[in-house]
Amino acid sequence: MKPALVVVGNGMAGMRTVEELLALAPGLYDITVFGAEPHGNYNRILLSPVLAGEKSVDDIMLNTRDWYDANGITLHAGDPVVAIDRRRRIVRAASGLEVRYDRLLIATGSKPFIIPVPGHQLPGVLAFRDIADVESMLDAARNHKHAVVIGGGLLGLEAANGLLKQGMIVTVVHVTDALMNQQLDKPAAQLLQRALEARGLKFMLEANTAEIVGPDRVTAVRFKDGTEVAADLVVMTAGVRPNIDLAKTAGLHCERAIVVDDTLQTYDPRVYAVGECVQHRRATFGLVAPIWEQAKVCASHLAGSGHRRYIQQASPTRLKVTGIELYSVGDFIGGEGSEDLVLRDARRGVYKRLVLDGPRLTGAVLYGDVQDGPWYFDLIQRGADISALRHTLLFGPALAA
Ligand SMILES: Cc1cc2nc3c(=O)[nH]c(=O)nc-3n(C[C@H](O)[C@H](O)[C@H](O)COP(=O)(O)OP(=O)(O)OC[C@H]3O[C@@H](n4cnc5c(N)ncnc54)[C@H](O)[C@@H]3O)c2cc1C
Repeated sequence: MKPALVVVGNGMAGMRTVEELLALAPGLYDITVFGAEPHGNYNRILLSPVLAGEKSVDDIMLNTRDWYDANGITLHAGDPVVAIDRRRRIVRAASGLEVRYDRLLIATGSKPFIIPVPGHQLPGVLAFRDIADVESMLDAARNHKHAVVIGGGLLGLEAANGLLKQGMIVTVVHVTDALMNQQLDKPAAQLLQRALEARGLKFMLEANTAEIVGPDRVTAVRFKDGTEVAADLVVMTAGVRPNIDLAKTAGLHCERAIVVDDTLQTYDPRVYAVGECVQHRRATFGLVAPIWEQAKVCASHLAGSGHRRYIQQASPTRLKVTGIELYSVGDFIGGEGSEDLVLRDARRGVYKRLVLDGPRLTGAVLYGDVQDGPWYFDLIQRGADISALRHTLLFGPALAA
């Protein structure tokens, strides 16, 4: 009999690990996958173009049910795991189904953080994480006019853009004085804001939400200074929290997320974890690039051919709003002793800032012209000595050569 691998979480990290495992050691395990969502595995990143009407749900499916059948994988979609008994090596699902494992892979992702202001449970208040959220937003856009998006980060701006494209009047509310402050410096954030305003989005910066006004469905958002904005739909994009309740209850060691070593193993050697639910050293994850690397490493260990180690690397950020070019990677602010090289071309709407630490490039923010982003990213990754390129660095690889 083959050993049993049970996967909890039918999302991007879990299924990528299974795909890598099938490539390395097809047929090694009897694989069972539990998913809380009632679908096959889909590309969550592309929920933004689905909301914007540029893609359909079918377009973003990665693995349909046929794929699971063809690979001999048992899929229990729409049946979340509610308990892990590590002593008996059994998982129990909401339906009552119990499955025994020899190896367990936890890939439960993150939960959207809903700011617990009064009114946050009213109908019309949503997150932006899964197909069900997108369907609710599209439904709201068909029947209502005013949307407020709370959180002006990457996810919030993509939600706002999508709702605008669906014909809603959209206000983005952000707590700091600049959009995407985790990825952009102020000049780039201002260019971005102007470009989005020109498309019709409205912004309220340095705005603190005090209450979501009801009574039966959301009608407005009220701020700490007493002002109000009309809202029939409120989308909260104020960050995510690793989804670790199940792991914690099972007694697995967690800090901010499930703690894993360089092989993606948890403190229980039979249990691995990948994706947004894990913590490696001090880091947690919110982009797919590092998660693909985790999937490779984890799969090689599950396949028994494990010599790879997971190494953290910087990941670039892009905004998926058609027509807006933006690229940010590494330390884009700089610190004591660092220098920056800046290019501004207001007429072309181009802004570039490169952050240097001695002879090395440590970060880049590009707006309006991002084609050299991957080159800068490569220089950062390699820790290349750019002293000889310094004079032409802002103009890209063609001039540097
Ligand atoms: C709208 C949107 C746009 C994004 N855009 C980008 C982008 O442009 N670039 C980028 O790099 N990243 C982007 N991301 C982030 C990226 O999607 C995530 O980093 C990635 O999906 C994380 O993979 P994961 O498997 O850890 O979590 P998920 O993909 O969320 O998968 C976790 C799955 O586990 C399920 N689950 C949870 N608990 C249980 C349980 N107890 N039992 C069974 N199943 C359970 C969940 O329902 C979910 O399906 C975006 C995210 C969103 C929401």
